[in-house]
Amino acid sequence: MDVRGDFLVIGSGIAGLRAALSLAEGGDVIILTKADPRESNTGYAQGGIAAAIGPDDSPELHARDTMAAGDGLCVPEAVDVLVREGPRYVGELIDWGAAFDRDADGRPALGREGAHSVRRVLHARDATGREIARLLGSRVGGDRRIRVVDDALATDLVMTGGRCAGAAFVTTSAARGTALAGRTLLATGGAGQVFRETTNPAIATGDGIAMAARAGARVVDLEFVQFHPTVLDVEGAPRFLLSEALRGEGARLINNAGEAFMQRYEPAGDLASRDLVSRAMVREAEGTGSPVYLSLAHLDPDFVRQRFPTIARVCAAGGLDLARDPIPVSPAAHYVMGGVETDLDGRTSLPGLFAAGEVACTGVHGANRLASNSLLEGLVFGARAAAAMKAASRPAALPASDVVEDTVPDKGGDTVPSAYDARDLMWRDVGVVRARPGLERAVAQLQEWAGAVAAGRRSRGSDQELRRISSIVTAGLLIARAALRRAESRGAHFRTDFPSRDDLHWKKHVSDRIGRA
Ligand SMILES: Cc1cc2nc3c(=O)[nH]c(=O)nc-3n(C[C@H](O)[C@H](O)[C@H](O)COP(=O)(O)OP(=O)(O)OC[C@H]3O[C@@H](n4cnc5c(N)ncnc54)[C@H](O)[C@@H]3O)c2cc1C
Repeated sequence: MDVRGDFLVIGSGIAGLRAALSLAEGGDVIILTKADPRESNTGYAQGGIAAAIGPDDSPELHARDTMAAGDGLCVPEAVDVLVREGPRYVGELIDWGAAFDRDADGRPALGREGAHSVRRVLHARDATGREIARLLGSRVGGDRRIRVVDDALATDLVMTGGRCAGAAFVTTSAARGTALAGRTLLATGGAGQVFRETTNPAIATGDGIAMAARAGARVVDLEFVQFHPTVLDVEGAPRFLLSEALRGEGARLINNAGEAFMQRYEPAGDLASRDLVSRAMVREAEGTGSPVYLSLAHLDPDFVRQRFPTIARVCAAGGLDLARDPIPVSPAAHYVMGGVETDLDGRTSLPGLFAAGEVACTGVHGANRLASNSLLEGLVFGARAAAAMKAASRPAALPASDVVEDTVPDKGGDTVPSAYDARDLMWRDVGVVRARPGLERAVAQLQEWAGAVAAGRRSRGSDQELRRISSIVTAGLLIARAALRRAESRGAHFRTDFPSRDDLHWKKHVSDRIGRA
């Protein structure tokens, strides 16, 4: 099955849907999406979307908080775009009918989250992403210039004369096809599934990073993976995210003796940034030899159940009362700050290829993302990429970064790993706490697997599970390689052998580029 349009969008999360709505004003749009169109990280976002709209807030304050979380590595121009244009695009969602929670005066109710200095997070109870996806999805569904092709897994970019001309895809029934377009937007989201423990749904296997890298695009900052501290840790249950908004509303981390411990590690206590909280939890759990818990028992139980109905329901299914019981929690891979390198309008280093949302890296998050900034990023940069795609394209002037050239080997071992083995390796050796021996082990193993996977891709082209493993191995290798290279600790990247931030050598972005596998 072959399809053709003026614009191709790969992915139906917030970035892809917002971009498609603008693109449809300039031509016919095809959206390829690998599962049900509603299945995306966007649909799982709980806490909300940040925007400087409160009376005590300003874009400058939002920028300051964003840059502080980014630990010296945010690209200031990208942050400026995010915080200044954010209120306008969030206002547009409200005008379109987004059912955000309201305060007594009818204004959007603003939540507080970790490392935000004021209340700034718009939310729809604890299912904000689902509400935004519903809204954007219904507008896309009503636009006759947009065609959504679902259950279509994009496998490779089509490159002609050094220019991206679309993507090859394979359907769940193993039919193969090509989607051709003058301009292509990668909006494939994140890569949490590269790690064994993750908050991300099954779709988040880093496909966009792997596809773009195989086609020769530059990727950048991939060592920076955010591990969310509070993920439900109940034997046999899925790793369900317990939103930061819980701590924003007063929930505390406690140890097995019931002691609130975060203040001992960080002055900001429970509302310190995610990497600091994750590492404090690992240290506390190691120190006490017991799990750590989230406690809301000191808050009004009616408020807790009303404000967090989804989370309360999931906890109840695991036999826990969110309002009264200590809830066992541990960190899990949540968000990839790095990605396909883009300028402020989504242009990548490959002509004809754009990227927006979690798959892209504008540098807006630096070394660590401020909570609730990623839905905003998908919205703002999705719309900007669409505008640039409609206008005549010019080559990207990417932000300054050191570029290393390397290849994923075409030859290697014979054994294609299981997805579990690759994800387990990433969790053990490239997880919350990293060091040279583990990182070297991971890179060597992933390189060997990458060779075997490349051979498998040539002989078993329409095998979807192999495609999934291929993305996990390629994206995993790029993440591990970047983590090994960065000999310092910064933001979400923590190395026990280089525990300090080293601005002299490492206050810079490092891009990676690989040969075709
Ligand atoms: C549990 C959870 C809670 C979160 N809470 C918040 C929050 O409160 N606030 C916030 O700002 N952020 C939050 N985030 C992060 C945020 O949801 C994501 O960063 C954001 O939604 C990413 O949007 P996106 O459009 O880039 O990608 P996604 O929403 O992930 O969409 C990616 C799309 O691409 C498709 N796709 C992927 N690969 C392929 C392929 N090969 N071929 C075809 N289609 C493909 C997927 O099926 C999907 O449709 C949360 C994330 C999770 C997992």
